[in-house]
This record gives sequence, C-alpha cells and structure tokens, in this order.
Amino acid sequence: MAQTSFELTARDGRARRGVIRTPRGEIRTPAFMPVGTAATVKGMMPESVAATGADILLGNTYHLMLRPGAERVARLGGLHKFMNWSGPILTDSGGFQVMSLAELRKLTEDGVSFRSHIDGSKHMLSPERSMEIQKLLGSDIVMAFDECPALPADRDRIAQSMRLSMRWAARSREAFGDRPGHMLFGIQQGGLEQDLRGESAEALKGIGFDGYAVGGLAVGEGQEAMFGCLDYAPDMLPEDRPRYLMGVGKPDDIVGAVKRGIDMMDCVLPSRSGRTGQAWTRRGQVNIKNARHADDPRPLDENCTCPACRGYSRAYLHHVFRAGEMISGMLLTWHNLHYYQELMAGMREAISGARFDAFEAEFHAVRAEGDIDPL
Ligand SMILES: [Zn+2]
Repeated sequence: MAQTSFELTARDGRARRGVIRTPRGEIRTPAFMPVGTAATVKGMMPESVAATGADILLGNTYHLMLRPGAERVARLGGLHKFMNWSGPILTDSGGFQVMSLAELRKLTEDGVSFRSHIDGSKHMLSPERSMEIQKLLGSDIVMAFDECPALPADRDRIAQSMRLSMRWAARSREAFGDRPGHMLFGIQQGGLEQDLRGESAEALKGIGFDGYAVGGLAVGEGQEAMFGCLDYAPDMLPEDRPRYLMGVGKPDDIVGAVKRGIDMMDCVLPSRSGRTGQAWTRRGQVNIKNARHADDPRPLDENCTCPACRGYSRAYLHHVFRAGEMISGMLLTWHNLHYYQELMAGMREAISGARFDAFEAEFHAVRAEGDIDPL
C-alpha cells in the first residue's frame, strides 16, 4: 500500500530543503500552499495553479463542512475530484476558523458548538468530527483539531488553551486511526511563552505525528514577535518531520520563517491581494490602482515569466482594475502565486547551494530599490 515519507535533502544553517512524498505526488519543501478555501483558489483554474509551481493546495474544513457539506463532497467522489485538483491537499481542522468566523460559539472539553455564519444553522466540531470531515473530503494531510487564542492573551488563558489543544491532539490521533497514504499533523501552541511551547512540543512528540505545525502565530503579534518565537519553537519539534507554519505570510515573513527552519506555509495573501489590486513582486508591493501606472507600458516585473507579466502592461492592469473587469483579479492572482512559487524555488536552490544568507541579503536589497525604475 502506498505510503508517505519526508526526506531532508539539504540544510544551510537552520534552513532545510526536502521532499514530502504522498501517493498523490511530491511536495518540494520549503513549500508554499495556495489557499482554496471553498474548493477553489479564487480566480484561478486548477491547472493554472499547478502551472505556477504549486505542489499542494490547502482546503478549509470549516467552510467546506458548511457549504457544500463534507458528506456531499464525499458522495461526489471527494475533494480532489470535486475541484479537479489531482495533487496533494492539506485541510485545516476547522478549529481556527470556527473561533474567528462562527456565531454563538460554545467551547467545552468535548469540542465547539456553533451557528454557521452563512445561514445560522447549528453545527459542532470536535476532534472526532474534524477527523471524520477531513476523511470525507479525502485530504492527504490532515490537521489535528485545536484551539488558538488571539494574541495578546494572558499567560493563563494561553496555557489552558494549549493544554486543551494537547488533549484534543491525542483524541485526533486516536480518531484518525491508521490510514496509509495519509498524514496527520499535530499543532504546537503556547503563544509567545517559550516554556509553554516546550510543554506543547513534548506532549505532541509523546502522541506521535507525521508532521508538526507551529500554530498560534500570525494572529496579530507582529513580525518581530513571530520571528522571536520562531528562533526557538521549530527546534523543539522532531528534526525528521515536516514543520508547517500556519497562515504565513508576506514574502519577507516567509523568507524569515524558512531561515528559522520552517518547511511549509500557507496564506490567502497572494490570492486575496490579487483581487484588491495588490501585486507582490521581487521589488516589493505594487498597488495597481495607483494613477502612476495609467500610461506605463512596462510589465509589473520585467523579469517575471508569468502570463500577466509576459502579456500585459501596467497600464492595462491598471485599466482593468479600475474598470472592475474580472481579468484584473485573475491576472494579479496568477502573478502573485507565480512570484510566491518562484520565491520558494529560489530558496530551495539557495539551501542546496549553501548560500541562503546571500539569497536573503539579495532579497532585501532588491526590494529596497522600489518597485520600478523611473520611466
Ligand atoms: Zn508576473
């Protein structure tokens, strides 16, 4: 029966390069996972997402359980078939989004009962139900069900929440069972408290997972505090398993996280920004609605090989954004996802060549030049 594995192929300082093997394909790490919240990466055909270099997508348990429903997706052949994506899919546990989006939440030892933010219908999520939903969806990488307090929170609240998440992690492991070809990741919590992060890591290692996420960051603490935590948190997790930083981030967050030993990340930023006229380039962020682009015949990034940069000027991208045309979000999302994947590929090469520090210095130097030369 097909199995999964993780192999580290190069290291440079704390940065790691590797490959996760699943029956649905290989995931080159460090990996960036585009977010397909509602069984679509908004504005992108699945083959276009693959063309940007993405090996794996993320799906959201909370959104999919409410609409169209996990049982319905299962009856229709699972999430891969439903959304026409044949590569690996990671699903989150629903824990984070139920706490941030659902209405009338009631948190108990057993789980969370809540009302849908879409139609007010009643639902519940527990470690057991989250494992069941992720199995119905057919997820390749399943996340343990956890609870994550927004920061800042006081130490007692963070400790209580972390210990509840560790009890839920054990129940998730038990409910997941033995599923060859699928991976289950545990999630480290503990906020910005180093000793609580250590306690959480020990609890997770005692349970045993196929991979480990650093959870509870990118929730409003700021980059400096996040990097401060990443200076120690990943090293508390097993060396020989993938490490996933959830919900990160901007390009400079991603480079800083990889430098600190993170292997996988996801974020809505490249796709969400694309729909609001924001582009991310080697030379920094570009707001395409700005009037300075209206007569500019040059592409977003002269070195970029994406369809938006090969075929269209800043003037055109500015025009279609201002005119509210659908192609605006499509092109900017394509460019952003392409840029993110190029960034990951560049870091993987740099790690293999033992020149990550030089890569990082160049990354920051190019951004400091500003997004384009004067016409
Ligand atoms: Zn481009």
